[in-house]
Amino acid sequence: MTDVLLINASYQVLSRIDWQRAVVLVVTGEADTVEAHPDRLVRSQHLTVPWPTIVRLRAYRHLLYRTVPSARPSAAQIKHRDGRTCAYCGGHGDTVDHVVPRSRGGSNAWDNLVCACRPCNNRKADRTPVEAGMRLRWAPRPVEPGSAQHLADQQRVWDLLAAS
Ligand SMILES: [Zn+2]
Repeated sequence: MTDVLLINASYQVLSRIDWQRAVVLVVTGEADTVEAHPDRLVRSQHLTVPWPTIVRLRAYRHLLYRTVPSARPSAAQIKHRDGRTCAYCGGHGDTVDHVVPRSRGGSNAWDNLVCACRPCNNRKADRTPVEAGMRLRWAPRPVEPGSAQHLADQQRVWDLLAAS
């Protein structure tokens, strides 16, 4: 997992960002690494820094980086949200499926995308789950403030603070 938690100066979780973006924030002095992988380094031509897992903004920012549920998620974000599990059969999922196909007006939004294995994705093809006779094991949900994922992320930060 290469996702990095971005937390505000107030220690509130803002969102998950990719590690490249986190490293840029640290290198430019906008954020500090609060937690890093114990044995992993980011190496480039010019620098070697600990691989961040949690970064904290130096200055308090209001909602700037908060995940916007309507924003278009990446395939990696969808797979991560669904734990790389196929939403149709529960097996290992390595593709992303549009629940309502794009050809039928389905969007690229969080609530229309699920992780799916290749066989299920191929079987479903250009059909809705109902048409394909396939059942979703869960409803696709945005990762948003207040979600279970968000609460778990925040708890991780509080636990870290309590331990330090
Ligand atoms: Zn499947």
